[in-house]
Amino acid sequence: MNRTDMWRRIEAHPKVWDMIVVGGGATGVGVAIDAASRGYDVLLLEQSDFGKGTSSRSTKLAHGGVRYLEQGDIGLVMQALKERGLLLQNAPHLVWDLAFVVPNYDWWEAPFYGLGLKLYQLLAGKYGFGISRILSREETLAHLPTLKTEGLRGGAVYYDGQFDDARLLIHMATTAFEQGATLLNYAEVAGLTKDAQGFVDGVRARDAETGNEFVASAKVVVNATGAFSDLLRFKAEPSGESMIVPSQGIHLVFDSSFLQGDSAIMVPHTSDGRVLFAIPWHGHTLVGTTDTPIAAATLEPVAMEQEIEFILTTAAQYLTKAPTRDDVLSVFAGVRPLVRASGVAKGMVGTSALSRDHVVHIDRSGLVTICGGKWTTYRHMAEDCVDQAATLAQLPDRPCVTHHLNIHGFHNAAKQFGALAVYGSDAYEIRKLIDADTALGEPLHSALPYVKAEVIWAVRQEMARTVEDVLARRTRALFLNARAALAMAPAVAELMASELGWDEVTRAKQLAAFREVALNYVLRS
Ligand SMILES: Cc1cc2nc3c(=O)[nH]c(=O)nc-3n(C[C@H](O)[C@H](O)[C@H](O)COP(=O)(O)OP(=O)(O)OC[C@H]3O[C@@H](n4cnc5c(N)ncnc54)[C@H](O)[C@@H]3O)c2cc1C
Repeated sequence: MNRTDMWRRIEAHPKVWDMIVVGGGATGVGVAIDAASRGYDVLLLEQSDFGKGTSSRSTKLAHGGVRYLEQGDIGLVMQALKERGLLLQNAPHLVWDLAFVVPNYDWWEAPFYGLGLKLYQLLAGKYGFGISRILSREETLAHLPTLKTEGLRGGAVYYDGQFDDARLLIHMATTAFEQGATLLNYAEVAGLTKDAQGFVDGVRARDAETGNEFVASAKVVVNATGAFSDLLRFKAEPSGESMIVPSQGIHLVFDSSFLQGDSAIMVPHTSDGRVLFAIPWHGHTLVGTTDTPIAAATLEPVAMEQEIEFILTTAAQYLTKAPTRDDVLSVFAGVRPLVRASGVAKGMVGTSALSRDHVVHIDRSGLVTICGGKWTTYRHMAEDCVDQAATLAQLPDRPCVTHHLNIHGFHNAAKQFGALAVYGSDAYEIRKLIDADTALGEPLHSALPYVKAEVIWAVRQEMARTVEDVLARRTRALFLNARAALAMAPAVAELMASELGWDEVTRAKQLAAFREVALNYVLRS
């Protein structure tokens, strides 16, 4: 994947695309994979970097949603469990199973959660992960050596999937490209074009790198802009009703000493009635999340003080070593694209589905909006969306083929690549870079496993265009340790400068831009 080649494809393209997808998060890239693998001619435009929105800021769980089971949403849970299984089959290098322990402090909790989690396991059917069961106090502590022991009676263990969200997204973008899609990052869709009957027939977009504006026409335009969906919808129909109710969730990241062992903690009911996870992730401890209504979505949301305090206080109730602000290595926020029940034409089954089910909504102008759902269900959402978009655009009928479509880098034993495991089979190529120039094997920071060759790879093959792209989404440095990411930035900028031909001014601007973003991930005492 290379941005210059993508531009060449756009310029050489005959006038009308079958489908233009707006938004390069899990939903949009999922739609691009689905449509391209059916043989449709697809262009995807992302205003920033792939995954800059919510899709790099999740809890990183490929899950059915234990919480929804408690709410009786069996169909939704089964669907997500099936998708979890397909994801593991199609991207074993990027998705793995993880034991989650629900600690029990009251006598009724073991039978209650034990039963519920057994049902959760059974609902997965042939897509099942590990076996759920009740644990003794000793077994619970064997899973979670740093769990507070005061009042602990035992626990219940169940299994779900875990993944690296931004990395999966980059591999999905590559998959879409390999299936024939054209994808461009840093290309904002500023407006929609319409035909004489008032139907949307294309987009007006702007290349953020050159400032050049361009128009692209399509038989159907899919709006996959997540929490920003209404902004694009209102360009098609200014008097339309809003669909999105944005809500923010944050995570705090600590070193691995806070949660020792390989298992996660799942707290089913926090003081505000939510679920909280403490999860081992890339050698660190990830704790979250919150659910705070916000007025409007922004691309770089910032954690609020009360959210930080809530997570620290709740984590301290469960961990032997109570984490403090000084222990926070990174704090990141994301915006949930929750869907309002009213004003929605398709896919909804009443208000109980609010915020969980996905929606495919077709405006009177013919703009197709896909939103809601969750990361785990992106493939199913894409299938539903492309079915409807293809019908609307009268594209030739072609079945979805993504159930068993491998994600780029597919590798069944990627663990053998150590720190490069998430690249799957691309790890061979990165090793070749190091073999050709041993200096590229040098680490970028002693606290993180990333080496210089990954920067070169990200620029040459994964369309990384900024220092932030490399440190936030090609590697996960910013999300794991923001101060270390800031320290790595000059070396990353130097490598990128030689690859992309940046002059001194560009390099300085890149570093300043990264610093401005990264400071939001640093928690000050
Ligand atoms: C805190 C939190 C935790 C979560 N945890 C999980 C989890 O563990 N498991 C799970 O399955 N789900 C989880 N989710 C849900 C999941 O992350 C989201 O459902 C999913 O990432 C949404 O993807 P998306 O592509 O719809 O939106 P986004 O990822 O936000 O993508 C939309 C994209 O559209 C682009 N865009 C917007 N406007 C334009 C424009 N005009 N032109 C071009 N591009 C544009 C944006 O830049 C953005 O990149 C979580 C969500 C949150 C907030």
